[in-house]
Parts: sequence; structure tokens; C-alpha cells
Amino acid sequence: MARFGIHLSISGGVANAAARARELGCDAFQIFSRNPRTLKAKPLDSDDVSAFRAAVSESGLHPVVVHVNYLINVASPKNDTYQRSVDALTDELVRADVLGAELVVMHPGNHVGSGVEAGTMRIAAAIDRAYEATGAKARLCLENMAGAGTELGTSFVELSMIIDAARCGPGLGVCFDTCHAYGAGYDVATARGLEAALAEAESAVGIDRIVMVHANDSRGQLGARKDRHEHIGEGMIGLAGFRNILARPELANLPFILETPVDSPEDQARDLAALRSCAPQLEQQQLTVEG
Ligand SMILES: [Zn+2]
Ligand SMILES: [Zn+2]
Repeated sequence: MARFGIHLSISGGVANAAARARELGCDAFQIFSRNPRTLKAKPLDSDDVSAFRAAVSESGLHPVVVHVNYLINVASPKNDTYQRSVDALTDELVRADVLGAELVVMHPGNHVGSGVEAGTMRIAAAIDRAYEATGAKARLCLENMAGAGTELGTSFVELSMIIDAARCGPGLGVCFDTCHAYGAGYDVATARGLEAALAEAESAVGIDRIVMVHANDSRGQLGARKDRHEHIGEGMIGLAGFRNILARPELANLPFILETPVDSPEDQARDLAALRSCAPQLEQQQLTVEG
């Protein structure tokens, strides 16, 4: 069975996010471990970390996923931005281990005009530096992107270029974002389009490298290269699309994390229920296994 979760706010401390994950009935959850609006970070509070780890282990929540700060750009051709980004990424890995998070998700970065090749080499070197400086245990996952501006990682082939260029590449995972895939032109709303996307993933990175899913419906059109998340069932992918996605054996047992808009307090529970309703029923799964 898939494990379902939500990206949750850490306002008031990381322990609050774990408590909220429990309240909402999540199986897994994702957080930022630092203030997402700045590259500067305050150290984690040790009491907050203890409360977080206790809440996670008591409730059986797993995996815990840390999403890397969006302001980090390890593809940047500018040395000062690059250095600050490498330092921040290094800190993200350290924090993930402190929190006991298994997975760390990052947007590969924007090459800002230097080109795919140069950007790719910068990202790979940054990841190696961050791992070699920390010896971190958490598994870093590169996320596929919609392709706005000069974003890298818009296709599985671009993700594979980063993985191949990094010394630590064999250990890297991939986070498959359904909204970003749709924006990049993978028609994950249809069974055929999804099949083609997963075939490309298999040949470029290996299907087992996809270790989690960002389950977001898309407000943007197919191939529009827009990163605009929508509530589950209210966008271009739709409930039928998510039923197809959750029925794929390559994805069916992964953690699915929602990053859908929170316009009103009940949105998170509603999106979680909508996504869960798209999972194959247990009897059907058993029939498939026996069948
Ligand atoms: Zn995402
Ligand atoms: Zn997004």
C-alpha cells in the first residue's frame, strides 16, 4: 500500500508538524527544516527535536521527508550564490540526520543562462561536496521540474545527467512530482501518457530510483512549463489520473506526499481523503496478486 502524507508547516517548531501529521491521520509527512523564506538558518532547538522524534516514533510515521529550501540554487554560475547554496545544502543534510528523516528532496536548480551542461556539473559537484562534508545518512532525492525559466531536471534524462555526473550518484533517489511532470509535457493524466513517462524513467534513471511521489494536481496545461499545484481532483490530472497513478505497480507502494494549496484549514484533510480514495481497494489488490 502507498503511504499518504502532506507537506506541513513547522511554524512554532518541528514538533508541531509531527503532531499535525498525527492529527490528520497521515502515514508519512514532509517539512522544511529551515525557514523557507531565507537562506540563513537558525539552529534546531534540541527540545523541539526530541519532541519531534518522540512523536514520530510513537505514531509510526514514516518516511519523514525534508524538502530543501527553494532558495538554494546549486546550479548557479555565480560563485557567491553557489557557495551559499552548497553551505545551505550541507546544513540541510545535517539537519535531516538530526531529525531522523530518511529522505531529503531537492529541486535540482536553475542554470540562469549558463546552459544545461554547466548547470548539471555544478549540481553534481555540490551534492558530492555536501555528502563528503557530512557523511549524511539521509537519502537525497532529485525532483523532476515543470521547466519554468532555466529549471534543470525537467525530464528524466536531465535527472540522469546529474546522477551520472555525481560520485554519490548511485545513492541518489528521484521524487516524482505529478504536477511538474504534467507541466513538463508528460501526460500523466492518461494511462498511456503515464505508461510512456514511466518507460522513460526506467530507461533514463531506473524505475527503482523513484522512491517517493509528490501528489499534486495541475492548474497549468499539459506542457505549459508552469509549476501551479491544484487540489486533488480539481486540476488537469483529475481523480481518474490519480487512480491510474496509484494503480501502477511501480508507484503503488511509495510514499505519496501532497503539496496542494492550503486556502482554508480543511483543505489538507480534504486533499488527503481525495488522494486516498484513488488508491485501489485492498480486495482488488489481492485479486490482482492472486489473479
Ligand atoms: Zn514537489
Ligand atoms: Zn511545484
